[in-house]
Amino acid sequence: MNKNYSPSLTEYKRRETIVVNIGDVPMGGNHPIRVQSMTTVDTMDTLGSVEQCIRMIEAGCEYIRITAPSIKEAENLRHIREELRRRGYTTPLVADIHFTPNAAEVAARIVEKVRINPGNYADKKKFEVIEYNDTTYQAELDRIRERFVPLVRICKEHGTAMRIGTNHGSLSDRILSRYGDTPLGMVESALEFLRICEDEQYYNIVISMKASNTQVMVQAYRLLVQKLEEEGLKPYPLHLGVTEAGEAEDGRIKSAVGIGTLLEDGLGDTVRVSLTEAPEAEAPVAKALIDRYTHRAELAQPIQPICNVPIDPFQYHRRETTEIANIGGTNVPRVVADLSRLTAVQYADLKCVGHLYSMLLDKFNMNDLGADFIYTGDNPIQFMLPNGLKEIVNYVPWQLAEDQENRHPLLTSRQYVEAETLHPKLNFIEATIHDITDTLMERLKQDATAVLVLYTANEHAMPELRKCFFRLMNNGVANPCIVKRAYGQLTSDEVQLYAATDVGGLLIDGLGDGILLGTELLPQQEKGEWLQTIDKLNNLSFGILQAARTRMSKTEYISCPSCGRTLFDLQETTAMIRKRTDHLKGVKIGIMGCIVNGPGEMADADYGYVGVGKDKIALYRGQTVVKKSVPADRAVDELIELIREDARWIEPMVLEE
Ligand code: SF4
Repeated sequence: MNKNYSPSLTEYKRRETIVVNIGDVPMGGNHPIRVQSMTTVDTMDTLGSVEQCIRMIEAGCEYIRITAPSIKEAENLRHIREELRRRGYTTPLVADIHFTPNAAEVAARIVEKVRINPGNYADKKKFEVIEYNDTTYQAELDRIRERFVPLVRICKEHGTAMRIGTNHGSLSDRILSRYGDTPLGMVESALEFLRICEDEQYYNIVISMKASNTQVMVQAYRLLVQKLEEEGLKPYPLHLGVTEAGEAEDGRIKSAVGIGTLLEDGLGDTVRVSLTEAPEAEAPVAKALIDRYTHRAELAQPIQPICNVPIDPFQYHRRETTEIANIGGTNVPRVVADLSRLTAVQYADLKCVGHLYSMLLDKFNMNDLGADFIYTGDNPIQFMLPNGLKEIVNYVPWQLAEDQENRHPLLTSRQYVEAETLHPKLNFIEATIHDITDTLMERLKQDATAVLVLYTANEHAMPELRKCFFRLMNNGVANPCIVKRAYGQLTSDEVQLYAATDVGGLLIDGLGDGILLGTELLPQQEKGEWLQTIDKLNNLSFGILQAARTRMSKTEYISCPSCGRTLFDLQETTAMIRKRTDHLKGVKIGIMGCIVNGPGEMADADYGYVGVGKDKIALYRGQTVVKKSVPADRAVDELIELIREDARWIEPMVLEE
């Protein structure tokens, strides 16, 4: 299998692409990776749109997308553009089109770029499964060509760029019938339109493959790159995005897992982060993700090239490992919280890792984010740990401890190779790429108690850790591995994005049986501040595992970022739904601003809350509408009723302190 979707899996290099001209801000080639976002104000509100565009430009947006659901909005783009120009802003505008070729043809004469969704440009979704033979399929393609060519010719004539933006949630019935709901279906959906463009000798094109499922999204982009090359199509720039990522911390982590994984491998020429927040909040997140690569090539330590890639980058398979204690095998990836900078840990301190002590009842409870292990370094805990929580201590204090059985040692690779005493069931060995020698690997293969803790300080971290996994796999080492990263003088927002990229990028490829976000590089703090830092890192660890879809420990919200079509206040509504349902572990709830795209774009959700009119909500079970027009003030109760009917509702637990 050709696995070459990236210019290099070890060295930071951007994929070479053609340059696409979008107004006076070209994309691709050697141009910087661009930041963009989308307005949420009604497109018919000219001044409101202009003011929001300006806020977005000032926040760092280099392109601005505006929805054009019908001809009248497409025409109003002219007024928005003129007013922006009058105020001195030349940022290229992009018209967002769904279902309306006539609006696209108007917009393409006005703005610098149009975005079409190949799933609904020439098709209305009927959720039908149709059996096609080659002739009937070809007839469909001919029909698309007839509808699409006029737009291509207008773009060519006016120098307008185009994004062919596939969305996992809105593939056409034709694609779904032939390819299913797969990354290949997503790629083929774009290629059907792209081939028409190339036949017309029109190449001013950017492509995207968005999904709210980060694994599907990453696989689709990789497959796209490979298929473009295989078919001899041009290397078009890529627009990266995770759809409906959600809000706040979860939205940022999910975006970093999907987008960061691709950026690490040199893919991506523009980034849009979709958050259920004001669009001006999105640009700084996109910028923080992109800026990490500005000096990557110079700062990275060299990594030896990879001769054999032992994974399939286009499909998720978890690396096969031997189960050791409760790590590896089919166990969910574990969370190890680093408490090594705390001394004299008390019962109450374990709250920061999800284990809550009630003084009143003199017992512990665990919430959904209860760490599985705590690492205490040279400061072993002086009491019995609750809820099956286990302790990892450095090797020397472990050797000196009276109770060796109930704690597990962490050894350096040298200590491990020379060790005479080990825990009979579970030992942790910290290793960098330089420690993974033949001797170590031989010893690991014979040891059914050894779990590796893989660590790197390389700036090009994810590729180096991936190389460690490849080395182990190519040498038949099946011991589970915890991935460890530690970050020094960074803001907590940066740590969130970087850790999500570095660890998430591995998890997406099935690599990693646990996560340890270390604190050793952080400056000294007071105990109270340490507890807050540990709490944040613990939440982040669970967030990364969930965003990479490897361990679901919280409710998942797939909420659209909102746009000019949105029928209710998305931020407020999401917060309200979240308040009532965020204890429903593993349940996925889609919250979509409109019926036009909403149901399609929440493809992954178990339940959907979708705006259908003013103060009217439709409720979905999976892809099926079950309550068509519920008044907004009753909609959350009815949603809970629906979850209750399916026996998936549980009463929230009140933890007494
Ligand atoms: S689902 Fe949300 S972002 Fe998408 S078109 Fe509807 S309102 Fe706009």
